[in-house]
Amino acid sequence: MSLIKVDEAREIILGKIEVQGTEKISINDSLGRILAEDIVARRNNPPMDNSAMDGYALIAADIESATPENPVKLDVIEDLAAGYNPETTVKPGQAIRIMTGAPIPEGSDAVIMQEDTERNGNSVLVKDRADVRENIRDAGEDVREGETVIHKGADIRPSHIGMMAVVGRSTVFVGRRPRVAILSTGDEIKDLDEPISGPCIYNSNGYMLSAQIKSAGGIPSYLGIARDDEKDLMEKFKWALQCDMVVSSGGVSVGDYDLVKASLKKMGQEMLFWKVAMKPGKPLAFGRIDDIPIFGLPGNPVSSFVSFEQFVRPSIRKMMGATQLTHRTVQAKLTRTIHKKAGRLHFLSANVQWENGACTVSPAQEQGSGILKSAVNANGLLIFPLELAEIAEGTQVTVQMLE
Ligand code: AMP
Ligand code: MG
Repeated sequence: MSLIKVDEAREIILGKIEVQGTEKISINDSLGRILAEDIVARRNNPPMDNSAMDGYALIAADIESATPENPVKLDVIEDLAAGYNPETTVKPGQAIRIMTGAPIPEGSDAVIMQEDTERNGNSVLVKDRADVRENIRDAGEDVREGETVIHKGADIRPSHIGMMAVVGRSTVFVGRRPRVAILSTGDEIKDLDEPISGPCIYNSNGYMLSAQIKSAGGIPSYLGIARDDEKDLMEKFKWALQCDMVVSSGGVSVGDYDLVKASLKKMGQEMLFWKVAMKPGKPLAFGRIDDIPIFGLPGNPVSSFVSFEQFVRPSIRKMMGATQLTHRTVQAKLTRTIHKKAGRLHFLSANVQWENGACTVSPAQEQGSGILKSAVNANGLLIFPLELAEIAEGTQVTVQMLE
């Protein structure tokens, strides 16, 4: 069994994860999905030069001398609403009443806003000058025909959905969401509806992993709890292979009843059993059974949580075709000095705060693989690099943002 760095382990894992197929869905259902095609504009938006204001389209040279005291009088020859083409051409001394979004009439080269005018029947008094092209929006200023407006691999946000509609797309190809089986292991683990007493605990990992899978974009399939028994484990793992990925928790350490490893060794292809140079979450199993990727995460709740975020989330996102696989990080100023032994990278449950433009991070006082409460009160994972033993208060550190 080899000791391996977090980044190295992640790279090996991602190298063995394949991007899944796509599906075509309504843009209304695409929020939060991963875009599986480039979105290309088929026409300019706006389609033609148009007015940015309600006012009058005119010739800038006509009103060069206009002031509130000495307004310039122009003949109004047409009323133009958005959605209609102008019927006339503006000539010197003339103006067209124009609404926001209406096409700029031929002959005119500026729009004066209504607030700088006074209408009098068929004429208008203009009380201010205008630059050539003032209040005119250029054709294609938003998007140009042929332009790629959203790139394949994007996490679809509301503004993306707006842009898809701008370019006329009602449906879009997105990455298929993988179904991910969750298998908890341990004789001491009980499900929430089971009677509980003595040394037993609830299957918190199962429910937490289910939520993590959902938040990564996958579809969780909860398979309950396997006993610390090779036969039961192998049966349940076999059952789990109906999914696109399998995640188990517990049983990958060196204890007498850590039988997940033994079971996977018998069933799996290219199973890797690592000691990852990280804390929490040192033991990790990864491999494939019948080509389905399988993760054996450690059982301690914080270890399971952190290991998922480092290895499983990026894998689910790769399967869906995402460009950004890992959590985004921020640089934040450490609020207190922290210590550890060098040799393993530590992930500390921590709180990032923004105050008066400064970004600070406070690691939870208690850190432990069984202290889930610290994670509950945290919005990020502070990275305490492998080689360091101390980081002084006030130092800029890297934090993975969980929200
Ligand atoms: P293991 O990796 O199986 O040795 O488990 C390590 C620790 O995590 C033990 O204290 C287990 O009781 C605990 N644990 C394992 N599985 C779960 C689970 N599904 N939910 C909560 N705690 C668990
Ligand atoms: Mg166990």
